Amino acid sequence: MSDNKQITGLILAGGQGQRMGGVDKGLQMFRGKRLVDHVYERLAPQVGGIIINANQNHDAYKTFGVRVVSDAIGNFAGPLAGLHAGLSVSRRPYLATVPCDSPFVPEDLVERLMARLNASGAMIAVATTGGRPEPVFCVVQSSVLESLTVFLKSGGRKVYDWYASLPLVEVDFDDQAEAFRNINTREELEGLEQDRTAVTAAAIHAKPPAPAASAAVGAVAAPPGGALARVVSCMDDYDPNSLKVDKAREVIRSLLTPIETNEKVAVRAALGRVLGADIISTLDVPAHDNSAMDGYAVRHADLNEAGETELRLAGSAFAGRQFAGKLGKRECVRIMTGAVMPRGLDTVVIQEIVQVEGDRIRIPAGQKKGQNRRLAGEDLAAGKPVLKTGQPVGPAELGLIASLGLAEVAVRRRLRVAFFSTGDELASVGSKLKPGEVYDSNRYTLYGMLSRLNCDIIDMGVVRDDPASLEHALRTAAADADAIITSGGVSVGEADFIRELLGKLGEVVFWKIAMKPGRPMAFGRIAHAGNEAHFFGLPGNPVAVMVTFYQFVRDALLALSGRSDDFALPLLQAPCTSSIKKNPGRTEYQRARLARDARGAWSVCPTAAQGSGVLRSMAEANCFIVLEHERGSVKPGEPVQVQLFDGLV
Ligand code: AMP
Ligand code: MG
Repeated sequence: MSDNKQITGLILAGGQGQRMGGVDKGLQMFRGKRLVDHVYERLAPQVGGIIINANQNHDAYKTFGVRVVSDAIGNFAGPLAGLHAGLSVSRRPYLATVPCDSPFVPEDLVERLMARLNASGAMIAVATTGGRPEPVFCVVQSSVLESLTVFLKSGGRKVYDWYASLPLVEVDFDDQAEAFRNINTREELEGLEQDRTAVTAAAIHAKPPAPAASAAVGAVAAPPGGALARVVSCMDDYDPNSLKVDKAREVIRSLLTPIETNEKVAVRAALGRVLGADIISTLDVPAHDNSAMDGYAVRHADLNEAGETELRLAGSAFAGRQFAGKLGKRECVRIMTGAVMPRGLDTVVIQEIVQVEGDRIRIPAGQKKGQNRRLAGEDLAAGKPVLKTGQPVGPAELGLIASLGLAEVAVRRRLRVAFFSTGDELASVGSKLKPGEVYDSNRYTLYGMLSRLNCDIIDMGVVRDDPASLEHALRTAAADADAIITSGGVSVGEADFIRELLGKLGEVVFWKIAMKPGRPMAFGRIAHAGNEAHFFGLPGNPVAVMVTFYQFVRDALLALSGRSDDFALPLLQAPCTSSIKKNPGRTEYQRARLARDARGAWSVCPTAAQGSGVLRSMAEANCFIVLEHERGSVKPGEPVQVQLFDGLV
């Protein structure tokens, strides 16, 4: 399967709708919702994020909380102009396009196009039906932008002319040609509206109208207007130059605005996502009273209280095959685990204690009424909430959802997180180091940690330490992301122009946190182009990046993603094998290994090197020893608090 996080979906809605009388086609109603809603619902699960190209009515398209872009070249110049606009703002390596007037987009469109693109090494994969290309159902490598720009600049407008200049592979979709139907005229729209069987794929996949999409909270361009200042001014003992870890967490938590936009995904695709709505049981599970054991189903009232009872065997019941006969008094049924309890019988006697002679069985005294019987609805009762909005979907939740027969679930859209490293000394992996340079490793640890959190990642590379580059990067990120994470550039000396810059874009505070490692950190919100993003400026030191991410950013991102459960990391207790020197007055995070000794007892041992630049110590460790703010030195054997990496992100 292709990694859909690598793919931007582009909905082409930039046309004039001439054949429909000059209306905006994407906004026309069809089967209870707008055409663009149909397209969005089908495309969203196939890609990592969506951009809409539209040249009018932007507000109407913004209901999805995604970026809406106009053509850069004017006059409704056609789909290539839309593709150009999408490629110019997309930051993923691939882009998949679909037109807004094709409501039946195949559900495996992108996957099949990507598979062929990768296998062939081509730059464009385009769908075909009946031997003819469907030119705007395609996946392109984002690097085609350069060639497209040149083509458009030279006056080219025709899709096929541009395609001819690049390595292209065609992918046959004859098996679902109907799904490529597009709607060009009012007659076609009305015709399809009436004839619900006209498009079989659509009939099969027809979904109830989506609830009105709530606008993404992150898309509200409210300049912070001092919200952060207000929070900190209400706090006693707020000292930005020596801020306690707990205080920093409190400030961060008070400024988070979780996303509320939902998308519908197939059950499997919900793994690792956050539920966007309560799941109410549609049925009783199990649906009928059934047997918990292999044995004999009996009527308890038939049994003698004092001695043995002899009953007549009237038939048998297996899982999936009910006993349908009529039962008289003192009759019983052979029953297997999971089989539906025959009508009138209420108790199961396990086979091991029953004596069988032909069609007669003898049951000892002492059977309890209702024993070994599972009641209908015992697991889930119809109409009762099973899972709550904001719960994370893990393997058990997937199974639970499937056990209700649901094929799709509403989940919160993924959190979009943009990140970049700052520093003139940073070199990219794969290049040769010049004197004074270091390789940029922070982007890799951040990539790893963000991937584990199932975020939609926007990797913006390395940004030089100059105001213009930083401003450009921050504005670009603020326009598109829910959260921005930077590393480096927030320590004393470096902070001055960044402070000014961030002040211009929003509201950000700079802290020295009373912790080791990872003291300097910036936090706030910045806005650009109608979007607002939470900002986390982490220190540059590689270990400090990881520690501050684990201690502050992880929880903030989980809250932003809409989680409503208690996701705080548990702290375990274990004896520390060696002494640790520490002064009260800051929280320390020692990298350590939690391990078992020969007798199976668990203890924790700090790793050798604890310098904040020593990433090796993170790799050697499997946990942090958390030494609390007020705590002094630790003696060997003393219990300490342990936070395991596994489960951190
Ligand atoms: P700064 O916070 O920018 O002063 O950086 C502190 C230290 O971390 C310096 O030694 C930097 O070279 C190092 N550093 C900053 N950014 C990165 C990065 N992306 N990867 C590896 N080291 C870094
Ligand atoms: Mg720096």
